Amino acid sequence: MQAILDLVRDVPDFPRPGIMFKDITPLLADAAAFGGCIDALCEPWREQGVGAVCGIESRGFIFGAAMARALGAGFVPLRKAGKLPPPVIGVDYGLEYGLDRLEIGTHALAPGEKVVVVDDVLATGGTLEAGRRLVERLGAEVVGASVVIELAGLNGRARWSGDLPLHALIGY
Ligand code: 5GP
Repeated sequence: MQAILDLVRDVPDFPRPGIMFKDITPLLADAAAFGGCIDALCEPWREQGVGAVCGIESRGFIFGAAMARALGAGFVPLRKAGKLPPPVIGVDYGLEYGLDRLEIGTHALAPGEKVVVVDDVLATGGTLEAGRRLVERLGAEVVGASVVIELAGLNGRARWSGDLPLHALIGY
């Protein structure tokens, strides 16, 4: 995990003053580190019959799609409002400042299908929790979630549901 840690760049005051942004693009550009990262993200879900990986827009698409391929699962995008063609369902959720909305195609998942929800960073936890609610509204089964980075000081894990597993590769 040290190689992954070394390739995450701290960017102060982005996208707003006072925010320390974790930039994962150097990690993506390094073939060995990116491959190792995908292997490690998949590890908890092997042999679990995962049918689909749901990646959250937009950096969750990158990790989620690679995980889906490695797990032999399908990939389903959870997108910001207005990006997916109808029919869709959506959930609104709170961010640090204001509201946002995630949507999923209503035919994207089969009832009872086992799903892992994936994003790059867990901060306050609202985004990942919204992803879980969306998947469950389609009657699929969330078996857990994976993120590359957990910003532990923001306590997003407390918002994640009950005792479903939430795996993070690295924590700050
Ligand atoms: P939350 O809902 O947990 O507060 O925020 C998580 C969402 O915001 C994720 O979709 C993640 O991509 C984005 N995010 C928040 N902080 C950072 C950061 O420092 N770096 C990156 N790459 N994404 C972030």
